[in-house]
Amino acid sequence: MYIKDQVKKLTPYKPGKTVDDVKKELGLDEIIKLASNENPFGCSKKVGEELTANALNYAIYPDGGGTVLRKALTEFYQLPGDQFILGNGSDEIIQIIARAMLDSSKNTVMATPTFPQYKHNAVIEGAEVLEIPLIDGVHDLDKMAQAVNDQTAVVWVCSPNNPTGVSISDQDLKQFLNKIPNDVVIVLDEAYFEYVAADDYYDSLELIQQYPNLIVTRTFSKAYGLAGFRVGYGIAQPALIQALEPVREPFNTNSLAQLAASAALKDQDFIKYCKEQNRKGIVKFQQFCEEYGLSYFPTQGNFILIHFNRDADEMFESLMKKGIIARSGHALGYPESLRITIGSEEQVEKTLKAIKEII
Ligand code: PMP
Repeated sequence: MYIKDQVKKLTPYKPGKTVDDVKKELGLDEIIKLASNENPFGCSKKVGEELTANALNYAIYPDGGGTVLRKALTEFYQLPGDQFILGNGSDEIIQIIARAMLDSSKNTVMATPTFPQYKHNAVIEGAEVLEIPLIDGVHDLDKMAQAVNDQTAVVWVCSPNNPTGVSISDQDLKQFLNKIPNDVVIVLDEAYFEYVAADDYYDSLELIQQYPNLIVTRTFSKAYGLAGFRVGYGIAQPALIQALEPVREPFNTNSLAQLAASAALKDQDFIKYCKEQNRKGIVKFQQFCEEYGLSYFPTQGNFILIHFNRDADEMFESLMKKGIIARSGHALGYPESLRITIGSEEQVEKTLKAIKEII
């Protein structure tokens, strides 16, 4: 059996324990899972209504063009349908970009720590990975631009960045884009876009029209509350989308997911509500951190990375015993921090109470 050397070196994704397992193991009635930045409010009611109203024929393959969802995106963004590529989560868009654009003759530039799937996919394709450390949770865009050379094919920018939550300003991003050569593709991962409340945030749709080498990725997994359906998308100029399309599996987004996502997109009141609740939760966390002298990154996402100045795994275990599952910072490049998803008001209260008891 031939396995690529670089694949042999990778460790497979290890799923965490299920909520039911943790409940049983610890004898707890309630578990609050705040480890994967999912939406504590679920998804729009319109999703259930739409799925009930439309009798889908599961015996036939999904619409490989994603007509209904593409139309919904076209109406929502006021952009032509050929500016979107649909994926099985934005994870798959990342994979498609890596498969289409990276091989062992290329390198790719990204921040560290950042969302691990950029590196993971680049390594599988055999590309050299150039990682530029964050400064205080923020992308060092100057150093990233300097790292770009003749072999660079793709630069990854994550804003708000996972795991820090920090977003990039309009001015910084524009300066950066102007420094990147036209033949290098810039991926702007905006998985948490809907939560951003920063005044200095850029308008990525405007930037797409200006930069033919820019692709923005977004997802239905976070604010739209459809992580279980696996739908994400890329937005770029038609030529860039067309370059990626041959790599996309024909039936990569399933029928239910397409319908659910198109219904979710039409309920912007739900998104507004989730964004407001998320902001309130962030304020509570920040006040808590100030009060207890804990440092944290100023997040624009639906999670917060808090530095506890003690072993993250230890903190994680203590919190889990109290029914709260957060994400240990060990695997995220912050061994003394926890990344905690902002839950509902009640969940935030319970989380802060639990943290108080263990610090
Ligand atoms: N990008 C970032 C920054 C993320 O945090 C995530 C999910 N954790 C993704 C992409 C992938 O999301 P999905 O595949 O569910 O769209």
